[in-house]
Amino acid sequence: MRKALVAGNWKMNGRADANGELVAQVLAGLDAQIDTDSVDVMVFPPSIYISQVVSLSGGRLGVGAQNLCEFAEGAFTGELSAGMLVDAGCSAVLIGHSERRSLFGDTDTRVAAKVEAALAADLIPVLCLGESLEQRDSGEALNVVAEQLRLATENLTVEQIARVVFAYEPVWAIGTGRTATPEQAQEVHAHLRGQLQQIDSDIAAKARILYGGSCNPANAAELFAQADIDGGLIGGASLKANDFVAICQAA
Ligand code: 13P
Repeated sequence: MRKALVAGNWKMNGRADANGELVAQVLAGLDAQIDTDSVDVMVFPPSIYISQVVSLSGGRLGVGAQNLCEFAEGAFTGELSAGMLVDAGCSAVLIGHSERRSLFGDTDTRVAAKVEAALAADLIPVLCLGESLEQRDSGEALNVVAEQLRLATENLTVEQIARVVFAYEPVWAIGTGRTATPEQAQEVHAHLRGQLQQIDSDIAAKARILYGGSCNPANAAELFAQADIDGGLIGGASLKANDFVAICQAA
């Protein structure tokens, strides 16, 4: 019922030449191996390369940004607005990635404002949620992600929440090689869907909840086979075309 989505978050990686090769190989994967009836494929390059990737992909890959400013315009040196991302060809934007939360001061309040700014410009917000290792070890994981979800969506209408894609990314699994087990991830995904159920049952049934954190070709199929995991948000492995294509095939 829910179509899977596999999204590559390139983070601050890639240069013009390498992007060309990577996109060409992913497009070849779309031609030959990836079943586009069952999975949508997106990439999130650094903002400066969005236009390049949009043009290289010829509309066959969804392209998104890794961040946006919550304000529409003005004296915000170095920032990009939702409207600018739309102009560059983006259809989506990552919001609340743990690296933005921990390194760049994206609080829950700012995350909520960014989700609203994205929706106002018709960008799909990919809202990232996840607990730290300390929070997991103290048994708080489910409460932490539920609270992040609540704070990011409490000012939205049901129609707006229906347009959000969710990504569960346990902080301890990002870039560490330590993937959540399928059972650990499924437990959190089911809990998030349960929270959405309290808002609206149709939204809960249709919401795409992606898993992210050391996802690779060896573990993707088992993760994606879980009832409430609808694809992945892929970091390191999205920079290797063969791995990314294999993960897309697993969805
Ligand atoms: P890795 O796949 O490198 O662990 O990164 C996950 C991530 O942060 C995607 O947004």
